[in-house]
Amino acid sequence: MPKDILRACPPTQRGEQAQGKLSMLYSKLFPKTIKEAPSEEVSTNAKLLLRAGFIDKLMAGSYSLLPLGRLVERKIEQIIREEMDATGAQEMLMPLLHPKSIWNETGRWDSAKDVMYQFAKDDKEYALSFTHEEIVLDLVRKHVQTYRDFPIKVYHFSTKFRNELRAKSGILRGREFLMKDLYSLHTTEEELNKYYWEVKDAYLRVFKRLGLDVVVAEAGGGVFTDSNTHEFQVIAPNGEDTIYYKDEWSYWKNKEVMTEEELNDPAVKTESAIEVGNIFRFGTVYSEKMNVGFTDKNGEKKYPFFGSYGIGLTRMVGVLAEVFNDEKGLIWPESVAPFQVHLITLNKESGIMNQGEIAYKKLSDNGIETLWDDRDISAGEKFNDADLIGIPVRIVVSDRIDSGQVEVKKRAENESKVVSIEEFISNLRS
Ligand code: ATP
Ligand code: MG
Repeated sequence: MPKDILRACPPTQRGEQAQGKLSMLYSKLFPKTIKEAPSEEVSTNAKLLLRAGFIDKLMAGSYSLLPLGRLVERKIEQIIREEMDATGAQEMLMPLLHPKSIWNETGRWDSAKDVMYQFAKDDKEYALSFTHEEIVLDLVRKHVQTYRDFPIKVYHFSTKFRNELRAKSGILRGREFLMKDLYSLHTTEEELNKYYWEVKDAYLRVFKRLGLDVVVAEAGGGVFTDSNTHEFQVIAPNGEDTIYYKDEWSYWKNKEVMTEEELNDPAVKTESAIEVGNIFRFGTVYSEKMNVGFTDKNGEKKYPFFGSYGIGLTRMVGVLAEVFNDEKGLIWPESVAPFQVHLITLNKESGIMNQGEIAYKKLSDNGIETLWDDRDISAGEKFNDADLIGIPVRIVVSDRIDSGQVEVKKRAENESKVVSIEEFISNLRS
């Protein structure tokens, strides 16, 4: 069908084209690792990411993604983009500065006052985006008239601002953070439900590709909706959320949807968890409030069924750091590591540097993203930095092995082996 022409390329192929491959010298990377994280940082994710040079803190809840961190975030973004596109959704970008009037239409200027950054400038009042339901409904109201225009599935990657009271979990809870938010509108409740479960499956594919074990929990809707929602939770000892499970249930639950009886049931087990995604069904409540109508087949005015679906991108970088690490540092999953290979040259005498350059060029020419630690410092320092940064594979060129050979070690394993650079490349690509 003509509508699908834009989707003709397989998602991964599009992804590789869109993303481009990057290799670089560690001596040129901004910034370098630091010895110790600032003492006020308590969370594992922030301590590790700060020390390894992935993030920097401006103030509580407000972090920069430095070049290494941005590389990881972009890979996560690309995985999410591929899975959202595969559901037929279209990417766009909405503004972050909103007029008060749009938030008054749903009553959320008042009901979400605690979380929303609101301010006045030159006699006008504004809010910074904490979510985008109202903005999407305004777009639909302007551009859509009849049932033929549905379904609508649009998403963007952008910043959210939330006045978080407890911002002590590093980049798991920022006052400013990146989110992917998808919105869908349908002419019937059945169609909304059908798409809602499709998005649930797409989310599970995203988390699988990120190497994360995620469980789905039934939850309440907060300032968003009165009906039940579903949260995607990563079980982790430092998680701020508590989730509950009993063998007879098909989902986990969070506290908001538990009865008193269930809370006291000894057969119900609990885990600490980190919420990485959340999906919502609003029915027609918001479209009625904002008068977003359409004419149906019989020429009658109806209101569309509305859903929204979020994944925290910055939080995801933090969750991966929180889950994949050891006493030496980070251990990135291959799908989102900032580089695929960490190349180390030992003993900066000309022969080794030449060999390093040859290896670096061969790797890059074969599309393998390589970070080359070309600095004139001790072997120990280079190995420590490689362990802290956590690129999945380390290869060493030194005068202890024959020219043309490299010593290969996976970050998550202890044993290393010596192979030719060509063999290494063909193994990695297969
Ligand atoms: P939480 O319960 O953790 O405060 P939430 O339920 O308010 O989160 P949603 O509105 O459902 O969050 O947002 C969708 C996703 O955005 C969340 O699943 C989470 O991954 C991410 N997210 C929410 N708040 C933050 C934050 N303060 N910092 C970083 N990521 C966040
Ligand atoms: Mg949520």
